[in-house]
Amino acid sequence: MRKWITILGSTGSIGTTTLRVIDGLNSSLAEERSFEVIALSGHSNTKLLAEQVRRYKPKYVAVSDPDCAEQFRGHIKDINVEILTGEEGLTQIAQLDEVETVLAAIVGIAGLPAVLSAVRKGKRVAIANKEPLVIAGKLITSEAKQYGAELLPVDSEHSAIFQSLAAGRREEVAKIVLTTSGGPFRGCKSEDIQNATKNEVLAHPVWRMGPKITVDSATMMNKALEVIEARWLFDVPPEKIEVLVHPESIVHSMVEFVDGSVIAQMGLPDMALPIQYALTYPERLAGCAKRLRLEEIQRLTFEMPDRKTFPSLEMGFEIARKGGAAAAVFNAANEAAVESFLAGAIKFGNIIELVRHCLDNYPQQLEAQDATLEELLEADKWAKKEVTECLKNHQPLP
Ligand code: NAD
Ligand code: MG
Repeated sequence: MRKWITILGSTGSIGTTTLRVIDGLNSSLAEERSFEVIALSGHSNTKLLAEQVRRYKPKYVAVSDPDCAEQFRGHIKDINVEILTGEEGLTQIAQLDEVETVLAAIVGIAGLPAVLSAVRKGKRVAIANKEPLVIAGKLITSEAKQYGAELLPVDSEHSAIFQSLAAGRREEVAKIVLTTSGGPFRGCKSEDIQNATKNEVLAHPVWRMGPKITVDSATMMNKALEVIEARWLFDVPPEKIEVLVHPESIVHSMVEFVDGSVIAQMGLPDMALPIQYALTYPERLAGCAKRLRLEEIQRLTFEMPDRKTFPSLEMGFEIARKGGAAAAVFNAANEAAVESFLAGAIKFGNIIELVRHCLDNYPQQLEAQDATLEELLEADKWAKKEVTECLKNHQPLP
């Protein structure tokens, strides 16, 4: 039995780890079973995409940046593979009849159309790409029900919650506790990190990830996005979600049940395990993940988050309560601000200021609770334009 997989964003941190997971699974499975890559996608890293195509021999490959497609063709002239381009190419490979699982690992809202089209085809969607869930969680989860699609979390915290929830019934859940390493600025005070450099921000103490999520971990915006992600994935009200700092990143998250039992999932900080579980669920198979030896880790510590230094956390809860297009504004302002920070155009402290500014100033007509996809995309556009305007006018930037 072969399982056919599309990897959206195969050249990124999650994408390359997914290929490692597939190698690990196939090397330990009997010959008649395997996980096969039918389609891959990349954006600008065409050289790595070409190497992946040579090695994994997919039938299709999508190059989402049309300018890079030509460059990509040049790398693989001797190979027979169908090349698709643009957003349409991504949605096509997410919908292929042969595909069983779509591993969604594009970064940001760019992954939204392909995630939605996989859901509408009733696929299993192993979702790492958290931004679409933040922006359109209500829509994606309700359409998943409607079309019989399975949404399996890849984000390590959400995979841990998904696994822990299996220990009881939904109505028996008292709360969900999302853990966080605390990022590179755990223990710092707000005034000390306002001017943090790109190198300081990108030096995450535990996880090696793509640049956007690494910046999000430093602002703790990543945890704010994850609160909203959990709210939709597990249909839990924000009052039942808590955040706990756990610098060792061994306990990936936990669920407390009404009787007081706390069920947690543990493992080394490596995305291979949550990726693999989303591919093999409901089975557990031997793979490439290294074993946890608690006697080597020795000590697990926990502390409450510093909400004053990291105001993004409170914003996450605010947006999770509010719902509607506010989440699209929140996410878009952050995407635009992080991009500006990575381009050297703003200070680290400006990221949160820009997000707050957009949340305080978005037009009333974006308030709709049951926002349609078009309204959400409009809210995204509004916030990105607002960030550009702020940068032009140096407002609210010092
Ligand atoms: P990354 O930057 O390493 O990779 C991003 C991928 O998306 C690349 O393949 C890139 O080619 C593609 N891409 C970028 N811009 C695109 C665009 N405009 N259109 C189409 N494709 C585009 O990112 P990552 O760290 O692998 O993260 C991917 C997603 O998974 C993010 O949403 C992130 O929050 C989430 N996630 C990542 C980790 C991690 O450990 N890296 C953990 C949990 C969740
Ligand atoms: Mg996470």
